[in-house]
Amino acid sequence: MKSAKVILTTVLLLVTSVTAFAVPPAHRSGPSPALRSAAAFEDVKAGDKLALVCKQCDTVTVQTVASKEEAMEFCKVDAKIVCGSCKKSFKVVQHGPRGKSTETRIINDKGEDCMFVTKLPN
Ligand SMILES: [Zn+2]
Repeated sequence: MKSAKVILTTVLLLVTSVTAFAVPPAHRSGPSPALRSAAAFEDVKAGDKLALVCKQCDTVTVQTVASKEEAMEFCKVDAKIVCGSCKKSFKVVQHGPRGKSTETRIINDKGEDCMFVTKLPN
């Protein structure tokens, strides 16, 4: 019986340390960096949470991604993004030299960078 107890304690300790290790750094140091390219959005899966940071109305809208396609909308050139708070619609554009650019931005009708998306830790 005594040895069983020791094993249980060891397992509990292991579980605790693994959990502590599994917490992404983002949990401790704020949100992860903005997703600004199709490659960055490739990592987003259904069920992930995205934070839509609107600089027009200074709000953050949290959206749970229903499908991969939905996530890819945020980096699809010419896709329309509507802010959940101010209801303004924005557009996804490609930034940088044509052809080799992979960076995308979300701009308003004045062409200003007005929203970015970050992935929230689960
Ligand atoms: Zn807004």
